[in-house]
Amino acid sequence: MGCIENKTSPATNTDSDFNAWDEMQPRFPEKTPKDRRNGAHVKDADLPPEGVYLPNNNYQAPHMKSPEYVQLSTAAAITLGIMGGRMYGCECTRCLNLLLTYPEGCRANCAYCGLARHREADRDYADRNFIRVDWPAVPMAEIIDIVASDPENSPFHRMCISMITHPRSEQDTFTVLEQWTDRIDPGAIPVSILSNPTTMTREDVQRTRDLGADIFTVALDAATPELFDRTRGKGVQSPHKWSKYWEILEDARDIFGPQKFGAHIIVGMGETEYEVLKLVQDLVDLGGHSHMFCFFPEQGSLMDHLPATPRDQWRRVQLARYLIDYRGVRVDQMRFDELGRVKDYGLPDSELSGVIDEGIAFRTSGCPGKFQDDISACDRPYGDSPPSDIASYPFQPKKRDMKRIRRQLEIPVRVE
Ligand code: SF4
Repeated sequence: MGCIENKTSPATNTDSDFNAWDEMQPRFPEKTPKDRRNGAHVKDADLPPEGVYLPNNNYQAPHMKSPEYVQLSTAAAITLGIMGGRMYGCECTRCLNLLLTYPEGCRANCAYCGLARHREADRDYADRNFIRVDWPAVPMAEIIDIVASDPENSPFHRMCISMITHPRSEQDTFTVLEQWTDRIDPGAIPVSILSNPTTMTREDVQRTRDLGADIFTVALDAATPELFDRTRGKGVQSPHKWSKYWEILEDARDIFGPQKFGAHIIVGMGETEYEVLKLVQDLVDLGGHSHMFCFFPEQGSLMDHLPATPRDQWRRVQLARYLIDYRGVRVDQMRFDELGRVKDYGLPDSELSGVIDEGIAFRTSGCPGKFQDDISACDRPYGDSPPSDIASYPFQPKKRDMKRIRRQLEIPVRVE
């Protein structure tokens, strides 16, 4: 586990069973010294990359850029055989998550994100942790050579290109996508785009579709406009706007069609359970899906001092989201208390119990793979929790996991 387990124990919320708005204020970013801005330090040294680069903060990152280079999750690198290591409870990941890379890094400053711009003061872009793990940088041609050798029998059920906020992001996404579909049939391994709406146009969305992408997602991340502004906009000197994200989300709906677009949402950054589930309902009503993440205080981020989402809050939202997304329950059939917490899931107890025991609701949510529509290929092993206290299960929960989940939900029905 050593290679994917990140570093320190997070703060926990001992006073409450949910993370309230008032306690989730991010730190304000500090000023970056001039000689560290825009990757100047890496570009000035101009070290040429030599094959795979494994993040190592004691060594200056070489000068690597997309589209020749991309970063990939530790889980994808292990599955691809580029890195050694094992993952608790799973043999591999089913999604090849790629991330565009540049010495300047992402130009946004999202408060919960390990890739944010303010980190250039102390860590080169290629060395930054993101969703709790390191992201080795690998030549794109090497990745394609490995997967193209036998796509039909690949462990990957899907590939995903994650854009970042950078002036070259659109063009390089097109190039990476084209390189992939030139050699690998998207029918064998479909492709998702995790977009960066801030710099995108409707034509860009159309182009990803024309080049063979299957699903288009928008990382809203924050569940309300106020929270978005606090964590991704003016509140942290970051360029994103809620309205622009919705504009591109609606373009994706028009261009990709029903069930082929969606939004990422992080739970527990200060929104209420009602607010996040209302958003889930709005997305379903548009014809899309929500992909959920449990807030985890990423080391080095502007929220690394704040508590991870309490498991009770997370499990309630996880279960309710699954019911809305896949079981036809509507948010207005559910009941909430005065603090917005779920009090009733809108289903008779026996039916609810059946859904809980199936366990799928508690698995990682994301774009589907080859098993079934409600099982995500994008399993992101331990991207939002340590294996010792799993938030999103990257595998089918076992009996002992189900007992724990029921305790967290405070629905103590015995599991046979
Ligand atoms: S735009 Fe994405 S990668 Fe960049 S800081 Fe925000 S969340 Fe992180």
